[in-house]
Amino acid sequence: MKSSVHEKEAQSLLDNSEGRTTPARISVLSLLLDAKSALSHQEIELSVQEYGLSFDRVTLYRALDWLVEQGMAHKVLGIDRSWRYNALNEASVQQHAHFHCTSCNQVFCLEKIQPTLLYSLPADYQVDEVELSLQGSCPSCLDKS
Ligand SMILES: [Zn+2]
Ligand SMILES: [Zn+2]
Repeated sequence: MKSSVHEKEAQSLLDNSEGRTTPARISVLSLLLDAKSALSHQEIELSVQEYGLSFDRVTLYRALDWLVEQGMAHKVLGIDRSWRYNALNEASVQQHAHFHCTSCNQVFCLEKIQPTLLYSLPADYQVDEVELSLQGSCPSCLDKS
């Protein structure tokens, strides 16, 4: 059985948030922190099993939605039109690029890439959200070919 390396971090992030720290919230946040790419619902359910946790789907998705509402996680639409989720701690940039691997369908958050187009935006416009989406091959798929 796997154990999360980010459980303590998840716990303290939640303790510093407005809401209650529940076992489901800790588990979901720590498995998102563990993941190297954004996870689909299916992958999250799979991880929950791998960690030996037993939350029903409703509890799981409620915790996930709550984390997204709180800005501790975010979701991104994959090229297969299904949502994927990843942790977003305060230290990481809210607006960042997403890399969609067309071979393995995984979505990676590239937090260091920020859309520089904002600098050329006319002063009388205000941006609330930027979606920068890149497509190509991820390192492990490139390795295989
Ligand atoms: Zn890939
Ligand atoms: Zn992201």
